[in-house]
Amino acid sequence: MPICAHCEREVEKTYPCPLCKERYCPQHIKPDAHNCPMRGGRKRRTKPARVREPSSPIAPERLDDVMQYIRELKKTRRS
Ligand SMILES: [Zn+2]
Ligand SMILES: [Zn+2]
Repeated sequence: MPICAHCEREVEKTYPCPLCKERYCPQHIKPDAHNCPMRGGRKRRTKPARVREPSSPIAPERLDDVMQYIRELKKTRRS
């Protein structure tokens, strides 16, 4: 079983961060969620900090969200 580089839990599947290339569980794949060391140069969103990732198990449709998110990230990185 792969291990998330952030929470170090064994999960069914990990996803490589498009920025730092470490592998994370769906809950921590977003750079914000794992304190991505590579996102330093990017401008911060002025979003309220109360938006937190739920710590409940990932529902299948949420995995789709993650994959969609990764696709979006790669798209924006390419430019
Ligand atoms: Zn994790
Ligand atoms: Zn990262």
